[in-house]
Amino acid sequence: MTDTLVHLLAVQDLDTSITQLRHRRDALAETSGLAALEQELAGLEAERSEIAARRAALAATQKELEEQIGGISERRNVIEQRLYAATSSSGRDLQAMSNEVRHLTELRAELEELELVAMLDQDRVDAELRALGERSAPMEARAAELRAQVANDALEIDGALATAVGTRAAEAALLPPALAERYETLRSRLKGIGAARLIKNRCDGCHLELSSVEVEKIRALPPGEVATCEQCGRMLVPV
Ligand SMILES: [Zn+2]
Repeated sequence: MTDTLVHLLAVQDLDTSITQLRHRRDALAETSGLAALEQELAGLEAERSEIAARRAALAATQKELEEQIGGISERRNVIEQRLYAATSSSGRDLQAMSNEVRHLTELRAELEELELVAMLDQDRVDAELRALGERSAPMEARAAELRAQVANDALEIDGALATAVGTRAAEAALLPPALAERYETLRSRLKGIGAARLIKNRCDGCHLELSSVEVEKIRALPPGEVATCEQCGRMLVPV
């Protein structure tokens, strides 16, 4: 095999590994299981924010009830003070005032009941949040581990890529320009493989067998001339 063909195959092999390394790098989150875990965690986060919204609504209800209860207590105090001080009021006024006090007392008790319900509901929601936290904590820890692992693997792949890209450029520089151009054109058209090996009577680009006549013709080509696979159109290098 001429040096040119050795370099051509080297460029092809490096291009193939560069493509594989890039695919591996892009798929790291998927293959490590991180992507699936993050999706699961996003689901839990959606659940958590739904529960947190319910908790906020309950807290708002409780605050509103407290304010109403405060207002009612103040009004009742004012009326009670007037009632105690009302030495000269008529019996009807006194009756109206004590009715009002009774009404306000009942109303306050009802609101206090509602406030208690809102507080108990918040306790239940807090328990839901705790349970959710217990479920997500180990998953968060695992996700952190996987993120570190993915970052580490990505660094390793980047190192291998940088080396391969550098070697590829050096190898490609050794090819005659016309051959390099032919290779690039074929490679972009034929799924990343522009130069295939002829192994026995099979092209390893398309994996089809060539006739023995064709194989002999290719093996008899003068050095420096590059054969073409009749089946797939790739450059064919006998090995
Ligand atoms: Zn072929």
